[in-house]
Amino acid sequence: MTTVTYLDHAATTPVDPQVVAALGAVLAEGLGNPSASHAAGRRAAALIDRARLQVAALIGTDPAHLVFTSGATEANNLAIAGHAAGLNSTQRRGAQVLGLVTDHKAVLSPLRRLAEAGFVLTLLQPDAQGLLSPQVLAAALGEGAQLVSLVHVNSETGVMQDLPALAAVCRERGVALHIDAAQSAGKLPLSVDGIDYLSFTAHKLGGPQGIGALYVAPQRRVALQAQIVGGGQQRGLRSGTLPTHQIVAFGLACQLAADRQPELAGRLSGLRQRLWQGLADLPGVLHNGHPQHCAPGILNLSFTGVEGESLVDGLSELAVSTGSACNSSSGEPSPVLRALGRDTQLAQASLRLSLGQTSTAADVDVAIAAIRRELSRLRALSPDLPPPVADWQAAGWVVAQGEGGERRLGTWVRCLLALDGPVIRAARFQVYGCPQTLSVCQQLAGRLPGLPLAHAEVGSPQQWLETVAAPVEKLGRMLIIEDALRAAQSSALQPFAAAGV
Ligand SMILES: *Cc1c(COP(=O)(O)O)cnc(C)c1O
Repeated sequence: MTTVTYLDHAATTPVDPQVVAALGAVLAEGLGNPSASHAAGRRAAALIDRARLQVAALIGTDPAHLVFTSGATEANNLAIAGHAAGLNSTQRRGAQVLGLVTDHKAVLSPLRRLAEAGFVLTLLQPDAQGLLSPQVLAAALGEGAQLVSLVHVNSETGVMQDLPALAAVCRERGVALHIDAAQSAGKLPLSVDGIDYLSFTAHKLGGPQGIGALYVAPQRRVALQAQIVGGGQQRGLRSGTLPTHQIVAFGLACQLAADRQPELAGRLSGLRQRLWQGLADLPGVLHNGHPQHCAPGILNLSFTGVEGESLVDGLSELAVSTGSACNSSSGEPSPVLRALGRDTQLAQASLRLSLGQTSTAADVDVAIAAIRRELSRLRALSPDLPPPVADWQAAGWVVAQGEGGERRLGTWVRCLLALDGPVIRAARFQVYGCPQTLSVCQQLAGRLPGLPLAHAEVGSPQQWLETVAAPVEKLGRMLIIEDALRAAQSSALQPFAAAGV
């Protein structure tokens, strides 16, 4: 097994060893329920109080303003649904909520749920570099505007919104502002100034998965409606036994992140720069996002002329994220990149490389080498290139060619056959397509030579599917290969027929 270079810190980042130790120590100690009045319970409550201070310090607030949740998703739901549920009947009439089309599903889905419940939902468009202009926000705020919910740093592109300017617009209009800071907390200086609700999560900053927090500004506390009710913990805002070990770990992770933040940001910017410089000289490499207003650790790139799934398939030594549809539950290539004006191909053929505390220059160099290698492999097969047949022509062979599919639809195949009389001497394919399509073409290129042109027995699309263990949904792509093969055969058979061969 080759070791995998982890460049997916925006998805989750390794738990710091000190945090692992602290979490384990709490579990090993076997504490009581922090709500209990006996000594074991009081000890747990004291550990939570200390952790709450550490978490609050990260965003420069008072520990009383934090609600622990299971992560940023739950914090977003509490802020958005809880704020909406707390509106009075006057505010509720014609109430408008606003978001940004490119934002995380953990913000967009709770907003869409409000739209289903009768709220007016306005989803704003960013500019081509992903930024929301304060003027666009101001112009979109209607009479009934009640809540603006935005992601601070976009998790796909790293684009960082101008929080002070956007918060000023909301404050001037008296509209509540919720910020999802899952990608910025612990990585960038952060203040809750002018912000009503702020979500963040431990597992993006060196803590464990399953714990996060919502900051609630004191003036919003009374109206905010709990979404999880039960034993009334956390002053009724989020019921459920507090997970002491998770919270202790979150607290320590926040403290370590705060201590390291300036140094880390500088180091990640340098690594990101190294990564970009290692790839930017290649033709057809595009940066998705904003060159300056971006988080230090995220680089999102699109590559012209290559198919996304094949690109990622070849990069098995890297753990990276992709805009390729095969990686999304929706089956659509990244809506974030589509909204920034990238076409389907570019949104598909995209990589998000994200760096973190443990990233090194060596990791970056591994990524550069792997991406350069895969791009040149795929580009060498590209149907954009002239058919590579000069050597065949020099050998005096007749060249037949046929094409199938369309790049716009994700698969395009050109089949090239070298003929010596009625016998196939050699076969080559130029392919834009998924890994299975590439693999079938490669196998056919090996099996066609030596066969008679007119009835080359090479199996059926159904059999090809089985040999490459492709899901049955890919049958259409196999049919495209067959189209190209048949087109090449018939283009060559016609002159033979005319000559009476
Ligand atoms: C990771 C992430 C989330 C989800 O956080 P969880 O703690 O996993 O629920 C929400 N928003 C953004 C911007 C994220 O990056």
